[in-house]
Amino acid sequence: MRVVVVGAGVYGAAVAAALARQGATVTVVDAGAPGAGTSGASFSWVNSRDKRPSVYHDLNVAGMAAHRRLADEVPLSGWYHGGGALTWGDGVSERVEALRESGYAAELLTRAEAVELEPGLDPDRLPGDGIGFFPDEGWVEPVRLVGHLLSRDVEVVAGDAVTGLEVGGDAVRGVRLASGTHLSADAVVNCAGPRAGEVAAMAGLALPMRNLPCVLVYTSPVAVPLARVVHAPDVHFRPEGDGRVLLHSGEIDRTEQVEGLLRDAASYYPGMRAARVESVRRGERPIPGDGLPVLGRVTGLRGYFFAVSHSGVTLCLHAGELVADEVLGKDRDDALAAFRFERFER
Ligand SMILES: Cc1cc2nc3c(=O)[nH]c(=O)nc-3n(C[C@H](O)[C@H](O)[C@H](O)COP(=O)(O)OP(=O)(O)OC[C@H]3O[C@@H](n4cnc5c(N)ncnc54)[C@H](O)[C@@H]3O)c2cc1C
Repeated sequence: MRVVVVGAGVYGAAVAAALARQGATVTVVDAGAPGAGTSGASFSWVNSRDKRPSVYHDLNVAGMAAHRRLADEVPLSGWYHGGGALTWGDGVSERVEALRESGYAAELLTRAEAVELEPGLDPDRLPGDGIGFFPDEGWVEPVRLVGHLLSRDVEVVAGDAVTGLEVGGDAVRGVRLASGTHLSADAVVNCAGPRAGEVAAMAGLALPMRNLPCVLVYTSPVAVPLARVVHAPDVHFRPEGDGRVLLHSGEIDRTEQVEGLLRDAASYYPGMRAARVESVRRGERPIPGDGLPVLGRVTGLRGYFFAVSHSGVTLCLHAGELVADEVLGKDRDDALAAFRFERFER
């Protein structure tokens, strides 16, 4: 079976790797460089903390497990970082309680216990107790993950955009590229992230997207012992390699007050007073119209598949495997029913 995957972000790479593992001949085409789209500018926290409805929560929980599995299987899989995540503020105790009841690993810590995990935090900025800790959460270096997934048995065409879809009867036959190249295929998987709507339109499919622009702030290397994802009420932190810290907040996408965000960050981690803003990256969250993933086959166009969502870093390995199975003719209706493209056509 010949499959063309459009897009070499985390989704395209995960779908391609799962297909190649099962013997398909796979070409991944990316308009730019692999991992250089949204996946290269993501907070990439692996979690299912606030995912609703329950079918979406379950998909994310399975995504978390898939990351831990792959990291266990691959020696020196340096892209995956466990260590859990910490948070505090309004509603945390209730959320911990609800998550525990659903079987999600969640605990409430005292200030002393939290500072033991994160000794760089200023204890005076923490409540005495009620600090949420989620031991199974983690974060990923998405570009390293893409590199691993594309390293075996997958042909990658970079720097050439898919500009058209070739259809014969009611079935996909191949794609055309900006360079003029034609690639024939038995199946095409749309993994174009924020551009999925435009790529779907080439197939005559109307996929509504409500992408959101966002801003990530990368500090200079700084000697703070940040070891995990931390969500303070107004700043989110995670390590970013070589001592850099990645900062984000609910507000920053709108305000772009990057120096203010760094000041807020240093009020929690005093060691960060020595940091400066080294770079700012702008990304675009790929969000299908109703906020839920679009996964799997399209009824009415044989050989056309989607793998598009927000939270794609968490979901890519598990959802990518489900989509690949379906491409190869294994019915995954049970797992993908809630995420079909056809819900937008009703
Ligand atoms: C600021 C921010 C924070 C986030 N935080 C999290 C988080 O904490 N946890 C989480 O799980 N998720 C998070 N996400 C979401 C997650 O990053 C995305 O869901 C995921 O990266 C999407 O991956 P993708 O492969 O679908 O898209 P992309 O990585 O964008 O890949 C799509 C690729 O398709 C290519 N392409 C587009 N059009 C064409 C074409 N016509 N021909 C060929 N190639 C084409 C692009 O060049 C691109 O490389 C965040 C996103 C952002 C922006």
